[in-house]
Amino acid sequence: MIAPTLAILDRSKVEQNKNMQQWDSMTNSPPSSEFYRPRLGQAADKGLLLVAKCNMCRRSRAYLASDLLQIYHRDTYLDDLFDGCCPRCGRSDFWRVRQRYPSNNDVGMLVVRRLAGTRTTHLWRDELYSAPATNEGNSA
Ligand SMILES: [Zn+2]
Repeated sequence: MIAPTLAILDRSKVEQNKNMQQWDSMTNSPPSSEFYRPRLGQAADKGLLLVAKCNMCRRSRAYLASDLLQIYHRDTYLDDLFDGCCPRCGRSDFWRVRQRYPSNNDVGMLVVRRLAGTRTTHLWRDELYSAPATNEGNSA
């Protein structure tokens, strides 16, 4: 891999946009290497961005791999993040998570979705009373 910052310095915005469009039209093509499945931990170690995109919803979001590392185990394959499908439409065949180095062009330009906190939701349900199961702690 080439050093991220300097190597991409001279790449123009136009060229970047072109790349994005090519990616759009590649909806049904397989990943560049089907046998190489990058894992989250490696991406986070390299300081990579993860760009999740749904070609059905036409939405794309960029994340810091290190942010996702706070939610997922580091051995998680990028394919398996977000349950492997678009959180919005639930399709997996149009959903893709790719990794890339941030470039200097991203500074002040790219919107990155940062982890702003975690909320725990308590779920309740009403059910008919039945005698509590035997508590192992008290059975002596
Ligand atoms: Zn979608």
